Parts: sequence; structure tokens; C-alpha cells
Amino acid sequence: MVKRYYCDYCDRSFPYSVEARKKHINGYQHQKLWTLHYNQFKTAREKLQEELGKEKCRRFYSGQECSFGNACIYSHSTVGDLNILKEEVYRENEAKRCSKLQSERGDSSEPSLEKWIFKKLEGGEADTKFSIHDETEWESHFKNPQGMQSVASLPPSLIPPTPDSLLECNFQDWG
Ligand SMILES: [Zn+2]
Ligand SMILES: [Zn+2]
Repeated sequence: MVKRYYCDYCDRSFPYSVEARKKHINGYQHQKLWTLHYNQFKTAREKLQEELGKEKCRRFYSGQECSFGNACIYSHSTVGDLNILKEEVYRENEAKRCSKLQSERGDSSEPSLEKWIFKKLEGGEADTKFSIHDETEWESHFKNPQGMQSVASLPPSLIPPTPDSLLECNFQDWG
């Protein structure tokens, strides 16, 4: 039986050989579908950086058809396209900022930092007045014990957190 190679991107199969696979993968149709597939998962920010890093496609900009289309390694973006991307990046950043602010204020489904801290400290369900912006209150909870404060170089895990350090931590996206 001849082994067949199935390409997920193209939804096609053909008799497998190293050369046939190589030829397919370097083919225009495959490259195009491959690029389209991965473009769906890019953020606007990544797309913009990529476009700005590319050289302009000479064929496309001299008004000719570029047969590479979306798979062209050179940029086909017009000023208008770039502006649309820039707006998308802006909206993306705003959305990120909003969700961070919301969880800080506690009006999202995610538990707020304040509620979490309150729960840790008091062991109770929170309807808390504790504010992360109140420095004295923050320090009263997070200051190290007397003896430890005089130790010059504490290991990072023993340095008390600041509100900013907690709000600024970034969660990794996996996948
Ligand atoms: Zn393919
Ligand atoms: Zn091109």
C-alpha cells in the first residue's frame, strides 16, 4: 500500500514521498492557506509589527497583479490598511486596559485583587473597604516583621509586594 500524505491546511492528500511533500509545502496554494490559517491567531499588534517590518512589494505597488496575494513575503498594505490595523491595535490595548481596571475595581466576574487580599487576611467573604491605593493600609498588611526589615538583601520571595507589582504582573498565554 502506498503511504499517503494528508495536508490539513489544504484538505488534500497525495502519495507520500519526501520530494512530493517538500514540493507541496513550498507550493503557492499551500503557502497561501498556511499563512491565512496562522493569521487568524495573530493579534493586531503582531500583524502591524509584521507589516511594518516588511519591504513593499514592487509588483503590487507598481499597479500590477502580484500572484502571491496574501502569501507574498512583501507588504501589500496601503496607508489605509495600516491605519485600520493601528486602530485595531488601539482597541486591543483599550480592551486589555479595561479588563485590568475592571478586575481592579471588582466589577467583573473575575475576583478583584482587593477581594482576594481581604479573603487571605481575614479569612472571610469580602465586602471590603480595603483599598490597594491606601498606602498605609497596604503597608500595615504587607510590611515584614521588625527583625527582618533590617536585613539588607532579602531574597526576592521575601520582599513585600507593592500594589503596582501585583497589578503589573502579566499572565502568560499558553498555546
Ligand atoms: Zn498543504
Ligand atoms: Zn506581492
